[in-house]
Order: sequence, then structure tokens, then C-alpha cells
Amino acid sequence: MCMHPTIGDTLEQTVRRQPESAAIVYPRKDHRWTYAEFDERVNRLANALADLGVEKGDRVATLLFNGSEMALAVYACAKLGAVFTPLNFRLSSEELTYIVTDADAQALLFENATKDTVEQAHDDLEPIEHYLYIDDDVPDYAADFYGLLEAGDPAAPETVVEEDDVYAFIYTSGTTGRPKGVVHEHRSMVEHNLLCIAEANLTDDDIGLSMLPMYHCAELHANLFPRVHRGATNVIHHEFDPPAALEAIETHEVSVVFAAPTAWNGLAQAAAEMDADTSSLRLGMYGASPMPAEILERCMDELCEDYLQAYGMTEIGPCGVFQTPEEQLTKQGSAGRPALNHDVRIVEPDGLPEAELERGEVGEILLTGPCTMAEYWNRPEETAASLRDDGERTWYYTGDLGYLDADRYLYVVDRKDDMIISGGENIYPTEVEDVLFSHPAVTEAAVVGEDDDEWGERVVAYVVGDTDADELERYARDSDALANFKRPREYYLVDELPKNPSGKVQKFKLRTDD
Ligand code: ATP
Ligand code: MG
Repeated sequence: MCMHPTIGDTLEQTVRRQPESAAIVYPRKDHRWTYAEFDERVNRLANALADLGVEKGDRVATLLFNGSEMALAVYACAKLGAVFTPLNFRLSSEELTYIVTDADAQALLFENATKDTVEQAHDDLEPIEHYLYIDDDVPDYAADFYGLLEAGDPAAPETVVEEDDVYAFIYTSGTTGRPKGVVHEHRSMVEHNLLCIAEANLTDDDIGLSMLPMYHCAELHANLFPRVHRGATNVIHHEFDPPAALEAIETHEVSVVFAAPTAWNGLAQAAAEMDADTSSLRLGMYGASPMPAEILERCMDELCEDYLQAYGMTEIGPCGVFQTPEEQLTKQGSAGRPALNHDVRIVEPDGLPEAELERGEVGEILLTGPCTMAEYWNRPEETAASLRDDGERTWYYTGDLGYLDADRYLYVVDRKDDMIISGGENIYPTEVEDVLFSHPAVTEAAVVGEDDDEWGERVVAYVVGDTDADELERYARDSDALANFKRPREYYLVDELPKNPSGKVQKFKLRTDD
């Protein structure tokens, strides 16, 4: 029988092929482990978790910043068949309680930097039976992670994990509502590794730097996993610090880095101010939003030549569409074309998958591919609404709006829920926000629709910045970019915008505050 490999198998393959290659470099704790050493620790942790009583199918949550412990935890869970449930380290205690309860998590790994949140939530974290603490001064209700690791058996755990077993619950970012638990299976993640390896031309000579949060699927699935599968090296930074990242690129001769465009901007700014040698960097990867042309140019000048964009979402792996380095200039503003084994369609929002719109027409983006989630945990209605079969394939309804150009390149326009319909006209807030952002005094802007008796909805803008409504009104009017009906009817100057723990603006909160 030929079984499809699991995530645990991808590590074991690399250990057999290249046991002495550098696997993990975590300067903060002086960890430098070869693949054989890393794998032995993974086994120890898996067995230690099993000794505590964690069983196949149990949820193991982490409230951790980046570190070698995140890498250990995810592979230990994979080998044990436990369901890895990484949480955003910036969650509030109330959000932590919500997710731990929703996931019914039995174990929680945490650290000094997240201890306060855990302690505030402690009495409400009813499902948690085992707390594991990775730093010194272990609280009395927790076990010492490193003590357990030392005591664990170094042999591979005996649990049989299969390709269609659940590998993880990855919670969405919570931009459009409560975070949803995305259920991913081993097989789909191994498939996702392969396409990331292929698109980034990853080799065992590559050295990657993980500095964006590893609880998010972009860093975890599109960077750590493919690198481990391919036998490349993983340098890990506890958190994002541009000067430290530039030093690490020079010291460790880092060749690939993933960051969101705003973080790339931070790196380029730091590079302009300090003298760092980034010549080892062969590829910069980004996602979460398109890269504005000015930032791309600055990064090309300061950091490296080639960039690879990924478009997608937690539910899809996350990578479903890639834009190659060559296309950064030839197809500026596009997200690229479907990843290998993937396909994209544009339909009327919520329309049938077979009713494709014409090229250039904006509609809902549907994606299909082998890395799509199995379901949303405990949300059958939302699962049914977002995964639909056309008889041949299952399409994921992304909730994003976009269009395909004549060459079938995808352009992402906005989120479906954010679109404003005023007097029968569709208005995409991002277009209006881009104009407001170009005003030098505006630091943040969010445009939403407010109920209006006459027009159905009217456009209003929430703005952070040292300016006033009259000035913004004049600026928007003078700008050639905005037709009259798209101009905000009201400007609300506010101190801050509601954001999810990843920093994305939560417009649903602005809409309900009306
Ligand atoms: P929630 O689903 O809980 O509301 P979220 O959708 O923000 O949160 P993620 O899965 O982290 O959670 O983000 C995916 C979304 O990010 C996509 O649906 C899309 O709107 C946006 N996105 C991702 N990559 C790109 C990209 N390259 N270009 C434009 N938008 C992108
Ligand atoms: Mg989403």
C-alpha cells in the first residue's frame, strides 16, 4: 500500500536524506539544531505530551511568539496526531477564552510574554487540562516545557497518523467577524508544501528567516513547512524587528524571507538607514495585500531584486494564486495566476460556480485546489455556504471581489461585505481609501456604507490624522480619481480604528457602531 505522507513524514524524510543539515537556528536561545537533533526533540515532545495524557485528535493550543518551541510543537502534534491550534499572541483574554472554548482545546503552551493574558483568562479556560510554560519561573498551575522535553522518549511515537487525519485548526484573522476554526488535514498541507517549494524554487541550500508570526498560516504553511520538507534552514526571530532582521540576513546569509508589504516597507526603511549587506537574499515573498509600486521599487533598491506574491486565505492553505518575480512589473497590481493544481473563477457574489462572468467584470473570487480546508470547525452552515460543489470540483467562496484580465490574471478589488451600494452604484472602499491615504496628514482611513433613506447606503470615511472634515472634503473633490458618487458624504475624525489582533481594520465594527 502506498500511503500519502503526513506532515510528520515530511520531517522524517528530510532527516533520512540529510540528518546533519542545519534545521533550526534560534539565536534568542542559542538553539542550533540539525535535522536529526530537531527530530529527536520533536519525538521527545510528542512522547511527553502523550505521557501527560494528550491523545490523537486532542487539540493542543499555543499562545506563543515565534521560537523554536513553535516548530517543535507543530511537528510533535503532527507525529502524535494531535490537532495543532496556534493562536495569535496578541489575543485579549476574552478572545483567548472564546477560541479555547470553541476549539475545546485540552493543552495550552504559553510563555512569559503571554502569561498575563493566560492568567486573566485562567478561570474561564475550562477545557484546558495541561498548561505548558516555555520560560523560567514556571507558574504553579503549569508544567515546565523544557523539563518535559528532557524527560520524553526520543523514539518516534507509535501513533498511526493518516493522510486524512486532521492536522490543525487554524483560526482565521477575525477581520470580518469572530475568528473561525479552519480544519486542515495532513494531505492538503503536504500538497501545499509542494506548490510552495515549486513556486519559490526552494532548495536545501536555502536559508529562510521567520520573523512574521508563525501562528499565522502564511509563515507556518508557506515558509516553515516547505523549508522543512525540502531540508532548508529556518532562522527564527521571536518577533518582527527590522534592524535585527537585517542583521540576521547578513549574519546567517538568509536567502528567502516572507513579509506583508507593510513589513517589507519597514525593512526597506531600516536598510536605507543602516549599512546591512543583504546580497544573500535571492527572493522576497509577500501576501496579505498587493505591494504598492513605491514600496516594491524601494525594496528592489534596498533589499533584493525578486519578489513572489501569494494571494489566498487561511481556508485555502493559504496560497492559491501566485505572481512571479517577472510579473511584478509586467502585471503591477495583479495577484497573479492560479497556483499549480488550482483554478480561479469569477461569479456574481454567491452565484453558481458554473456561471462565470466576462473578463474584466468584478465579481466574487472562487478558488479550487487540493489544499482547501475540510470544513470550519463546528460551523456547518458557514461550511456549506463557503464550500460548494459543481459536480466536478469543490469551489471555495472567498468573500473577496476581483476580476480576471484578458490574460486571466487575477486582480483583487475588495471584500464582498465591504462593498457599498449607493443609488444602485457599486463602490469599492479601497479605491476611496487610496485617495484619502494619499493626503499627507492621513495616517489611517476606513470607508464604509451607512444606511441612507434616499440612496440605500451613503459613503462615510473614518479617518485618523491631523486634519479636518472640510480639508478632506476639498481634497477628495479636487482629486480627479473619484467620481462624485464615490466621495464620502461624511468624515469622522477618530483617534484609532478598530483592528483585529493582526492589525487589519474590522469594518463590521464601524458599520454596527452607526
Ligand atoms: P476573517 O476570515 O476572520 O474575517 P481574514 O480573512 O482577514 O479574517 P486571513 O485568512 O488571514 O483572514 O486573510 C485572508 C484575506 O486577506 C483574503 O480573503 C484577502 O481579503 C486578503 N489577502 C490575502 N492575500 C492578499 C493579496 N495578495 N492581495 C490582496 N488581498 C489579499
Ligand atoms: Mg477570511
